[in-house]
Amino acid sequence: MQAQIKKIGVLTSGGDAPGMNAAIRAVVRSCAYHQVACAGIFRGYQGLIENDIEDLDARSVRNIISRGGTFLKSARCSEFMTKEGRKIAFDNLKNAGIDALIIIGGDGTFTGGLVFESEFNFPVIGIPATIDNDISGTDFTIGYDTALNTVVEAIDKIRDTASSHNRLFLVEVMGRDAGAIALNSGIGAGAEEILIPEESDGIERLLESLRKSRKSGKTSSIIVIAEGDKSGKNIFEMAEIIQENLSNYDIRVSVLGHIQRGGSPSCFDRVLASKLGVGAVDAVLDGKHNIMVGIHHQKVVSVALELAIKGEDKFDRDLRRVADITSV
Ligand code: ATP
Repeated sequence: MQAQIKKIGVLTSGGDAPGMNAAIRAVVRSCAYHQVACAGIFRGYQGLIENDIEDLDARSVRNIISRGGTFLKSARCSEFMTKEGRKIAFDNLKNAGIDALIIIGGDGTFTGGLVFESEFNFPVIGIPATIDNDISGTDFTIGYDTALNTVVEAIDKIRDTASSHNRLFLVEVMGRDAGAIALNSGIGAGAEEILIPEESDGIERLLESLRKSRKSGKTSSIIVIAEGDKSGKNIFEMAEIIQENLSNYDIRVSVLGHIQRGGSPSCFDRVLASKLGVGAVDAVLDGKHNIMVGIHHQKVVSVALELAIKGEDKFDRDLRRVADITSV
């Protein structure tokens, strides 16, 4: 199989995540190591359709391992959702002499890759990179560790002002469908309550917990809320409800937003991205396709793309108990 692969294409797609650059670097250098040509596709599937493709060598990726974002740029591309768009993408790959495609992104990116491979029988390998850690078959996705550290650092700062003024802060963090960032950063930053999309205990439980906190002598409180929590209220409406029921609290709202995606990747993410980039090129050269390379018990593993997208729920129920016990 190795003899048939002469050139590998690589792209980043969907939401950017810190560590994507480190993954691209590992793919490009691994190609150089194996003496296989490598092409970078700019702006994800959009650039593939617009033929925004450039050959890369080992020196093209110097000084990027420490940078957040992705130097190949990322995009969301509605044209790739159509068969006509994907046919243009396929023709461009063929014209560029690319024999296999490594896609770095989240579940949307993988879904696009799966459809593409099934239509054109073109080898596709996925590398999981999204701050949400919501891909099955891998213990971690690239960018998650950095995002957690960014969130904990921000909440620590909010805690300083919360305790100086005896305030209650509601802090919204990313996570439309997955509460991993909220639950882990909440435990790490010592939050009093954590609201996540996977569970809904209602606002009454939150009010009860805040009443208990006050009685137990706590003077300030932090509540971490994932953006997709199931209370049915946005964070500002929730603040109003708490204020109406617990008038002795001085409440503030902080929405962390896009700072959670940015910043220099942590060492953990750089090493993870390097392992997965090398693993993805190994997988291509071993003749594997339609798979994602993930990490399990610190080893690189291959998982069917379909399972990575639709696989089991990764929610760690034991962590909820840890959060409840450590916030009494
Ligand atoms: P994140 O988890 O950070 O949001 P993602 O990879 O899930 O990243 P999406 O925007 O969902 O990001 O998907 C990226 C791109 O993948 C889309 O813009 C689209 O081009 C392509 N894509 C997603 N779903 C499909 C699909 N069903 N068919 C074809 N292409 C798709």
